[in-house]
Order: sequence, then C-alpha cells, then structure tokens
Amino acid sequence: MERNNILSVQQSRDSDFIREVEEASGQNVSKCYQCGNCMASCVYTFAYDYPVTQIMRLIQLGQRDTVLSSRSIWLCANCQACTTRCPNNIDVAQVMEALRIMTRQADTVSQPDIQAFYDEFLRSVKTFGRVFETGLLPVYNMRVKKPFTDFDLAPRLLKKGKITFFPALVKNRKKIAEIFEVTKRECFSKAGKARPEPLSSKTDT
Ligand code: SF4
Ligand code: SF4
Repeated sequence: MERNNILSVQQSRDSDFIREVEEASGQNVSKCYQCGNCMASCVYTFAYDYPVTQIMRLIQLGQRDTVLSSRSIWLCANCQACTTRCPNNIDVAQVMEALRIMTRQADTVSQPDIQAFYDEFLRSVKTFGRVFETGLLPVYNMRVKKPFTDFDLAPRLLKKGKITFFPALVKNRKKIAEIFEVTKRECFSKAGKARPEPLSSKTDT
C-alpha cells in the first residue's frame, strides 16, 4: 500500500484557490485550525497520499496543483465521519466533493477508474431508475480496459438472485431522469458559470 506523502509546500501560493473551494463547497475552509479530528475519523487515512487534515491545510496554503492531483480526493468514500466530528462545523466531506468536481474541470483526475465508476453508476440510475449491476459491470470493465474483472462471480450471483439478467421495472423512470436534469440546471442557475460542472453532467447518454 502506498504511504502518505510528507507534507511539503513548494508551489507558490495561489490565493484564489481557497476562495474557489469555499464558493464551490459552501464551506469556510479558513476556519480549520488543524485539530486532526477529521483525519482521525477517516477510514482511508492509511491509503491517502495526503490525510484529509492536510488537504484542508494545503487548500489554505493555496496549493492548487497538489490538491487537485491528489489521490485522496478520489479515494474518499463520502462517509461523512470527518464532517460529523469537525468541532468547527465544517462539512469536510462536502469540501472533498467540491474538489472532485474541480479536478474534473481541471482535467487532473488522479484515479480515472474511480471517476469511471461514478459516471457509469449514475448513468445506470438515470437510465433504469436504480442501479442495474449486470449492465453496469461490463460497461465499467470495458471503460477501464479490464474486461474480465469479477466475471467469474456472475454465475454465483445470478444463481443466488443477487443480480438479474434484466433491469427492475421502476415506475416513473422518466421522473428520475428529470431529477438529473433539474439538478444540473439548478447548479448552474444558482451559482452561474463559476460553479463547477456537476458530476452527473458527464453521465449524459
Ligand atoms: S468523507 Fe471522505 S475524507 Fe471524510 S472521513 Fe469519509 S472517507 Fe474520509
Ligand atoms: S476536524 Fe475540522 S477543524 Fe479539525 S482539522 Fe478537520 S477540518 Fe480542520
């Protein structure tokens, strides 16, 4: 397993970066006083290149390139443990979400396989009204160029009824697809062009 990087601040400070992250996330990152509660709560600290506390500090220091190319952003499971335990009521998980969106815009996604999973999961929900695993997995595998990953599990899962050959018929699938469109429109109309592109926008079929 790769280890956390040593925090070193080498880039010149990008003073616009913290403002952009605060606008995108709606959170006051400046209030973070580095208590470390978020890092201590995070189950993925062992796998991150920069623990979440350091991500917050790097944002304060305007280290745009380091933050937007970090592995941590895409390994984050959005579990909210950091948010729950922050004594300053910073929604840290929301900051991580905003950073993921910003990396898409900057084209610096460090974990394209994870991005592909997000995209295909949302595309499946938008199309079928709920995720259709049997359709999702082959498409995802092809997209990440690992066509046979977990293929051997399919017969057992089918036999146990965990997955099905055909998607479930969810009522009002069109309404669910509309939620994606409305969410996308609202994101842009509320915050204007400066607002990062919503995740679902790249799942359009
Ligand atoms: S939301 Fe992300 S950063 Fe926060 S505790 Fe969960 S995995 Fe860690
Ligand atoms: S828990 Fe809150 S105040 Fe403490 S380091 Fe994390 S973001 Fe900063």
